[in-house]
Amino acid sequence: MVNPPTILRLAAASLIVVGLAGAARAQDKPDNWLMRMFQPPATGSVPAPDTGDREWSGQSGASGSPLMTADAIRAAAAAFGDCLAALWPQAERRGVTRANFERFTAGLTPDLGIMDLLDAQPEFTKSTWDYLDLLVSDERIARGRELLTHYAPLFAAVERAYGVDRHILAAIWGVESNYGTMGGDRPVVRSTATLACVGRRRDYFREEFLSALEILQHGDVAPEHLIGSWAGAFGPTQFMPTSFKRYAVDFDGDGRRDVVDSVADLLASTANNLKMDGWARGQSWGYEVVLPQKFDYLLADPARQMTVRQWQALGVRRAADKPFPRPSDRAYLFLPAGARGPAFLMLRNFRVIMKYNPAEAYALAIGRLADRLRGDGPLLHGWPREERALTVAERYELQRLLAHRGYDVGEPDGLLGPRTRGAVRNFQVATGQIPDGFASISVLDRLRQP
Ligand code: CA
Repeated sequence: MVNPPTILRLAAASLIVVGLAGAARAQDKPDNWLMRMFQPPATGSVPAPDTGDREWSGQSGASGSPLMTADAIRAAAAAFGDCLAALWPQAERRGVTRANFERFTAGLTPDLGIMDLLDAQPEFTKSTWDYLDLLVSDERIARGRELLTHYAPLFAAVERAYGVDRHILAAIWGVESNYGTMGGDRPVVRSTATLACVGRRRDYFREEFLSALEILQHGDVAPEHLIGSWAGAFGPTQFMPTSFKRYAVDFDGDGRRDVVDSVADLLASTANNLKMDGWARGQSWGYEVVLPQKFDYLLADPARQMTVRQWQALGVRRAADKPFPRPSDRAYLFLPAGARGPAFLMLRNFRVIMKYNPAEAYALAIGRLADRLRGDGPLLHGWPREERALTVAERYELQRLLAHRGYDVGEPDGLLGPRTRGAVRNFQVATGQIPDGFASISVLDRLRQP
């Protein structure tokens, strides 16, 4: 529900990151804490919370944008007051009063530590299974089940009103903020004001800043609770100010859309978001499946959608031989760890979850946590845990080597999106390997050979 600068958010999502071209809203997601897991870990593998007033390094950003040089950042910071003042007419048109504008911007200084985060290049990457281990942990499953019991009547009411499975809502709550216990600690107005006036994403964040002022003007969220990630995502399910405007609802009827302090409002708003993004009522996100011995792995491609019945005809079975409830659903086959890992048929709702956050590993974590909360067991098929995720440098190398051999990877970006996976697949076909599109170390080694 966060809208992180695509590159950052996407770099977050492990071996199988995907940039969804169609996810217009998600495309601009600035990060939440999920992403920070993929920053070099300071103390082991636990994601660090936002530490508020981190000092700026004083260094130019890695993006190479002229707006991110140290000099440009200093100059923009020096003009911060003028920049904010110039936004008053736009705030006024949105119904923000002069008194409130002054109140919420008085004494505001830019939080330049954000500039380091805006251009951060994660060096460490996680595999899908490491990511799922962290997010679909026994602790998170147990806590989620407690909350589902505690708020059972509320979950039922939200489910009735929006048609979104309560376990999915609980899973988003759990994955985004560990049920409200993790999240940023930066004031959203200050973060978005900083990004609206300094750095390379000003146009995008001007809208977020003005929307944050509107939230305060309406009194939806208490100013001291409008706290979030460096990119301005706030509340237990991490709304950006603009997505708040679009999706937030007042479900407890107190006249305020409080997605921070009202569990009713935050669950219903999240459900409304999924509903408006096309959630198919009463349906799951997907199924773990088992592939037949001889299988055409070229079919494992998001572009190759077929009905569940057609997949069955190809020998695809649901794990544990459970029946598929609706054979006419359309699905694509997803192999997050290639032919040696588990396989999934992904339904329409998986794509809806990906609009919330355009990374397959993220959407899979949501889906899996939801299944575990519902009472399902662990995956039946294991992960190839001896594989490690390619580093960012290795991903670039992989893309360069593929391009050098004439495969289309687009502009090398260090992300293993559908295009790169397609190129890996074609290379695998050409070299007699199983064409599962999985960018393993052995694929990279093979590419390094002349
Ligand atoms: Ca309310």
